[in-house]
Amino acid sequence: MTEGDDRIIQSKVTMIKGIGPKKADCLRKLNIETIEDFLYFYPRTYEDRRHIRKINSLRDGNVALIKGKLTYILKGRITRRHTLKLLIRDDTGSIEIVFFHGGYLAKTLKLNEEYILYGKVSVNQGKLQMLHPDITEYDPDQKLSIVPVYPLTSGITQGEMRKWQKEALSYLHALNEYLPKSTLERNRLCGIHYAIENIHFPKDRKTLMQAKYRLIFDELLFLQTGLLAIKRRMASVENGVSFSEEVTTDDFIASLPYALTAAQQRVLNEIILDMESGKVMNRLVQGDVGSGKTILAAAAMYKAVKCGFQAVMMAPTELLAKQHFNDLKLIFDKHQIKLGFLSGNLSMKEKKETLNKIESGEFDVIIGTHAVIQPNVKYASLGLVITDEQHRFGVNQREILSKKGKNPDVLVMTATPIPRTLAVILYGDMDISIIDELPPGRQKVITRAVKEDGREAAYEFVRREVRKGRQAYVVAPLIEDSEHVDAKSALGLYDELKEKFKEFPIAFLHGAMKQADKDRIMNELYTGKIRILISTVVIEVGINVPNATIMLIENAERFGLAQLHQLRGRVGRGNDQSYCILITEKGSEIAEKRAEIMRTTNDGFLIAEKDLELRGPGEFFGIKQHGIPELKIADIVKHVKILNTVREEAEHILNDDELLIKEENISFKNRIDKLFKNTENLNL
Ligand code: ADP
Ligand code: MG
Repeated sequence: MTEGDDRIIQSKVTMIKGIGPKKADCLRKLNIETIEDFLYFYPRTYEDRRHIRKINSLRDGNVALIKGKLTYILKGRITRRHTLKLLIRDDTGSIEIVFFHGGYLAKTLKLNEEYILYGKVSVNQGKLQMLHPDITEYDPDQKLSIVPVYPLTSGITQGEMRKWQKEALSYLHALNEYLPKSTLERNRLCGIHYAIENIHFPKDRKTLMQAKYRLIFDELLFLQTGLLAIKRRMASVENGVSFSEEVTTDDFIASLPYALTAAQQRVLNEIILDMESGKVMNRLVQGDVGSGKTILAAAAMYKAVKCGFQAVMMAPTELLAKQHFNDLKLIFDKHQIKLGFLSGNLSMKEKKETLNKIESGEFDVIIGTHAVIQPNVKYASLGLVITDEQHRFGVNQREILSKKGKNPDVLVMTATPIPRTLAVILYGDMDISIIDELPPGRQKVITRAVKEDGREAAYEFVRREVRKGRQAYVVAPLIEDSEHVDAKSALGLYDELKEKFKEFPIAFLHGAMKQADKDRIMNELYTGKIRILISTVVIEVGINVPNATIMLIENAERFGLAQLHQLRGRVGRGNDQSYCILITEKGSEIAEKRAEIMRTTNDGFLIAEKDLELRGPGEFFGIKQHGIPELKIADIVKHVKILNTVREEAEHILNDDELLIKEENISFKNRIDKLFKNTENLNL
């Protein structure tokens, strides 16, 4: 792209006639600041104004274009507003047109002239009417067309947007094609000028579809190529750790009380291959709740340690970190591997001691919260970092990690199954392993959804189970009662249920409690002293008490499907039949659908897909959370097919020109860089 051209495209919108500072301020609210922003500001929908309808063919509710002679004007007033009634007649009949604030219009209308009107028809006491239609004088030279409808903000009218957009298009020539020619040809894409012009003012449906396809393709291609480029760049870092092939995990696996499932075995192999290569591992392990991810993490750490490196495992909550620490300590003690625990809540003295032992290399494995990657932590020889999905590393964090010494391998575990299509986008920069099998003998958790009137029966059911020796979780959406939110709180429930279940030890756990208290409660839960635990979603991830068989969720309508599935995953971890009871107070349609899905399936991947359907990609995606550039026209659910094509194309381009330095790829690369520039949090 030549500089001169780019300068035009990057000019401020005030270059357009009729846009002064005031209008420019309004446009800024729509994120339109430059000519380019305008060109890429797409219509929300279109009005087909190509066909003139005869008045006698109009029916109540039609949105139609009509042409006729203005045969009557009646000005009136309702309180202080000028109203205007018109009669428009064509050769088949007449229709009444009403404006409630038509003072300004009245001055421009001329009796017996022909007009074109577009609007919604209603029938009022047998009379055809149009309220506030678009009205313009008939001009035989003007082409009837498909008209764009833009999202608006206060201070800007649809008419202005259309006019300005046309102006902006007059600078379109300054925008250079940025896709490589071969990409355009391979995918039979139309050129960018054609696409932009027709997305705003399409000639017909076919040109609109072509334009849309090209622009959707663009968005997805930038995203995919950007992510893939990052992935390749990282994979090409040859100075990562290569763990010795001589050191196997066989002894470790043999020491477990069970055999790995085929899926676990496969994924472990993938991890080991990465570790043995000199490239930096950047792998995501996806697996449904209970599929046995932790033990694979442990095997990887075992290998790292036996190869003479330290390994660190980072968990999203202190509770979970503590649990991993306890579980893994039991396993690792047998192999003379020394574990350290680090979190922000240690006393100064403990912390100092721990940091020393990490630095001296006395600890082989360090388990903890975010604290483990803080700058003050110095590792003797960090070779492997395992983390939770919630802790994918941003650019900066990765640098911090690398500076800790060795370009450690990174393994990310995710507890939320993500549909394939989405994973490709969200984790396009990572290699993905999927554990798609549960250990044998797992019982299906039986799920029931009840309304308020089923609550007592549900509690009685809990009582019977707990009497049999089982344990139960009760989860509420809030910690404390709130004036603003009409939902159960864990604290409120605790007070109620303490009374109701007097015969059982019952406890209350929430995220903001002191660590020592949490530890004590978790301990008592594991040893079976506590029979019923009231809590919030803090127990969502990772808690593993095989004797717990009931998960009762209050105000289930307040939780998303993925969350419900995670919560349900806390039970069914032992040999006894387990139950999940959803209590919904107010049943919205979505809540009903969720309950139905929960009742009928235990498959996390299926649930994730349904979740995506119900909530739409916007929310599911957590775009902000993941730092992925925003999609304006592409929809990763609707456009899965295009996405697949795009992915192939991205591979194609990078295979040919890894660094995008060839002449024909320069403009393309510039656009990708620009897109990713504003996403500092982009997880690398
Ligand atoms: P995830 O983290 O994937 O939700 P965990 O790693 O916590 O699952 O494993 C759940 C439970 O299953 C743990 O108690 C673990 O010891 C056990 N487990 C893991 N793999 C197997 C297996 N292959 N056979 C039997 N039990 C297993
Ligand atoms: Mg786990």
